Amino acid sequence: PKELASREWALQRRLDDVLAKLGEKYGDLTGRVEVKIRPDVPFTHIGGLQEAKTTLQGFTVALVNPELYRQWGVTPPKGVLLYGPPGTGKSLLAKALATSAEAIFYHLKLMNLTSKFGPNTGEILQEILTIAVREGRAVVFLDEADALALEHLLPPPQAREASARLVAALAEKLDSLEEFSRIIVVAATNRIDAMDSSLVAPGRLDRLIEVPLPEPSAQQEILDLLKARAERDAGRRLFADLDYGIILPPMGGMSGAEISEIVRRALESKVHKAGAGEDPGPVTAHDLLNEIDGYRRIRGVVDKIRYGQYL
Ligand code: ADP
Repeated sequence: PKELASREWALQRRLDDVLAKLGEKYGDLTGRVEVKIRPDVPFTHIGGLQEAKTTLQGFTVALVNPELYRQWGVTPPKGVLLYGPPGTGKSLLAKALATSAEAIFYHLKLMNLTSKFGPNTGEILQEILTIAVREGRAVVFLDEADALALEHLLPPPQAREASARLVAALAEKLDSLEEFSRIIVVAATNRIDAMDSSLVAPGRLDRLIEVPLPEPSAQQEILDLLKARAERDAGRRLFADLDYGIILPPMGGMSGAEISEIVRRALESKVHKAGAGEDPGPVTAHDLLNEIDGYRRIRGVVDKIRYGQYL
């Protein structure tokens, strides 16, 4: 573990250096690529998404034993595109693939990188992928991949031209990756319409996986996971027996991230009560309903802040 920590530190430094150097070159500040040498999000920590989990888990073998692909006369995937609304578990899925393959996890937030480096982001992606190939077995996660369209930076005609260059650089790098290089690029977007079709061409991000909003049964699974995690962390029971029959209907259409926010708020209001010297009692279905109500009222504002503005 100590050795891993120092390796992770050194790798993080190298990535920061690359960005700092390119930042200087283009006269701009540095962005950040986060790296985890041993990510620890097992597929069992993800609720619902049965199909997506099964497909991604299947790709573990492409990282661990790509030779098996050869034995069956097919080539292992180089890239996956996860698409679906925000907060539905796309990052979790990418991390879970890295976890199950014991691969290094690189998290690149493209909205952030493109905002700073614009069309030159292509060069950065190439350099990072080169480092990743050298370091061995990896999942390179391109979060907010629709930002490659540069629509948030430039007016449409310029955006199209600049984005084409950027996408070409990424595509070129994907094409040059060896078939058995043990790297999988996982891109995520909630705007499939803004993705360049050349990126999903064969040999590139050619495995498309939908990550939909959770059905009620998946929402219940997510709630149970969040509950169990909080109780594990606290080392005691925190929740009363919950009547899902009354909680799930008003939660219709909420993502995993939103459910997690509701659970967090319910626990936090217990903290506040305890802080005021009251005995708060366990979290009940009624408490959750209150939080759902409160959250629905501010949801529009949260969305605007989180997804409506880029810089
Ligand atoms: P996305 O990448 O699709 O925007 P994330 O994977 O970052 O969403 O999810 C954000 C947070 O929401 C997670 O860290 C987790 O707490 C919660 N979450 C979202 N979807 C799920 C899910 N299917 N199962 C468990 N937790 C989830």
